[in-house]
Amino acid sequence: MQIDALLERFNERFGLTSRLAFALSAVAIIFYVDLVTEADLVAAMLYVSVCGLLYSIRSPAVHIAFCLLCTVLNAVAGYYELHYVDADNVIFNRVIATLVLYSVSFLLYRNSLSESVLKRLATTDPLTGTLNRRHFMELMSREQRRAERYNAVYSVLMIDIDHFKRVNDTHGHQVGDLAIQAMSDACQKALRPTDLLARYGGEEFIITLTHTDQPGAAKVAERLRESVTQIELATEKGVLKFTVSIGVCTFFKRSLLEEIIGRADQALYQAKTSGRNRVCLAPGPEPQVSPA
Ligand code: GH3
Ligand code: MG
Ligand code: MG
Repeated sequence: MQIDALLERFNERFGLTSRLAFALSAVAIIFYVDLVTEADLVAAMLYVSVCGLLYSIRSPAVHIAFCLLCTVLNAVAGYYELHYVDADNVIFNRVIATLVLYSVSFLLYRNSLSESVLKRLATTDPLTGTLNRRHFMELMSREQRRAERYNAVYSVLMIDIDHFKRVNDTHGHQVGDLAIQAMSDACQKALRPTDLLARYGGEEFIITLTHTDQPGAAKVAERLRESVTQIELATEKGVLKFTVSIGVCTFFKRSLLEEIIGRADQALYQAKTSGRNRVCLAPGPEPQVSPA
């Protein structure tokens, strides 16, 4: 049970389980067919370590270059091995070792690719490519702990397209999807690489601006609102323009993440009820009255 938990933590930290499984089976086979001299032992160990490193590289060119390099080294090693072992043995061993090398490298490459595809599917929204809500919340709980611990600050923006049902009703769902994509692209352009953008649901997005206080967040939100008004989508029924409403809440000490998001949502509601196409800021926390 404890070993399971340890392996789980190890895997979470390094993502190594499958890497190790492949590399160890590779070395087992290489040991079996190819361990003729001490130099082969060193080569096998080097091969395993390089395989481990290559696992996270998803460029086929790198994997092919590694295989070709190993093939050349294999051939050179085989040439010198001829002094110790008879030719048939050397050729057989080296051909098998090369085949093993190519198949393991191919499997590692495939495995790393499918792992990255799975990771992308599990963490992003398929329509917009932004973070999905679950992954956003995971990243945010880290940001929340950081802000609480290091006296940092962040702000949350909740954004919702105005009268979106009308867009769908007038132009159809597909154009509605294009509007959602255009809106998310506009958000992405307005943000820094450290900010987080996620699709919170339907046509509602959430943004975290790291190291940004309320005046800074208000400026970004206003810029964002303005940039969405510039979007023009050509449709069969003419040019489609739309607006967004934005609610902003800034982190304050001893708050909960849910509280910050809830307040941003209330500010968004206020922006909707006070006329839409505007930014509303959530009020700061009520002062805590200490008991007499
Ligand atoms: P409000 O200004 O109050 O926000 O009005 P609204 O019409 O935008 O109301 P609301 O935000 O509740 O509308 C959400 C609509 O978004 C309802 C749903 O049909 C539509 N929607 C949700 N997800 C998608 C999607 O992935 N694609 C498209 N095209 N429409 C979606
Ligand atoms: Mg809406
Ligand atoms: Mg909505």
